[in-house]
Amino acid sequence: MKNYNIAVLPGDGIGPDVVKEGLKVLQALADADASFQFDSTTFEWNSDFYLKHKRMMPEEGLDTLKNYDAILFGAVGDPRVPEHIPIWELIMPIRKYFKQYVNLRPIKKLPGVNSPLKVDGNIDFYVFRENAEGEYSNSGGRLYQQTNEELAIQNTVITRQGVERLSRYAFDYAEKHNIGEVVNATKSNAIIHSMGLWDEVVKETASEYEEIKVVDVYIDALAAHLVQRPESFDVIVASNLFGDILSDLGAALVGGLGLSPSGNLNPEREFPSMFEPVHGSAPDISGKNIANPIAQIWSGALMLEHLGREDLAGIVMRSIEDVIEAGSVLTPDLGGTAHTDEVGDAIVQAVHKRM
Ligand code: NAD
Ligand code: MN
Repeated sequence: MKNYNIAVLPGDGIGPDVVKEGLKVLQALADADASFQFDSTTFEWNSDFYLKHKRMMPEEGLDTLKNYDAILFGAVGDPRVPEHIPIWELIMPIRKYFKQYVNLRPIKKLPGVNSPLKVDGNIDFYVFRENAEGEYSNSGGRLYQQTNEELAIQNTVITRQGVERLSRYAFDYAEKHNIGEVVNATKSNAIIHSMGLWDEVVKETASEYEEIKVVDVYIDALAAHLVQRPESFDVIVASNLFGDILSDLGAALVGGLGLSPSGNLNPEREFPSMFEPVHGSAPDISGKNIANPIAQIWSGALMLEHLGREDLAGIVMRSIEDVIEAGSVLTPDLGGTAHTDEVGDAIVQAVHKRM
């Protein structure tokens, strides 16, 4: 038996509500399977914490998290705190310090979910987003503020090592799943320096994989292709910004942000990986108990996979599908009238039936 130590960061807004349901489902697995046990420690590092302490986490926060097997994260963002604070003082430090350079974003249409598009085939692809560098850098600055000459410079950081490790992870995934074609999201015709290096390293890395062909597609055209024929994609590698945008677009194709999970992976397992829904704290619906908890519960399944429990991840996924297909306990974003906790309870029941 392995006893996992999970750090839980519920965050702000709907974060705590959906995290509660995510933990409920993990607990249901632990109740039914003696070989999967876990202890969770909750850290209230959120915007309230910031308003009290002028920082998003304690000084030793990263050191504290370092020894956990995984981090389950809800969402952060609060109207009382400048938008960039939770991102740059909590999420980014965790992703960067723990070398979570792969942001894994499955885009998968579950049976029974309506897509806004008429698609014959199956929508089921992965976006592998670079998660530690790229366009989301704090290098740059502003000059001549409040004058007509005002200018801003925002630097993009692309490193050979950064692109290589991300694309290698994506190619390994493709190889393992017999996927012959990987799409590289690029814009090297216009963004010549950073995207030029990006394309070069993706191509060089691909040359080590005989069975895999890389197709470079410009990000603007790719956005259109994803709407026109989403069923034709299997694996997309993308920079931090492009991957962020593509995965929200993908989420919209398969039922919305309430159904979109993600993993921030440190593939070497030198540090904990972090699992969180793609969505934010949704202040517009916060406090109403109507947020869809499935993205969070699905993120828990990605965590189980990462911890080597594909079997339990499979049970969670099939239980989510059971509840969606039954159709009677769904939150308003999926056309239902159920509350957040009712969806969590229904998935727990489905888990019990399957174990
Ligand atoms: P958002 O994802 O919070 O919300 C976008 C829309 O989707 C809203 O209409 C919301 O009601 C809906 N939505 C989101 N999650 C849902 C769910 N589980 N169930 C049902 N509907 C859901 O994005 P936003 O409104 O652009 O940002 C709100 C705050 O969240 C901001 O402060 C932003 O910075 C922050 N944010 C945080 C993260 C993160 O924690 N990783 C990610 C994105 C945004
Ligand atoms: Mn995003």
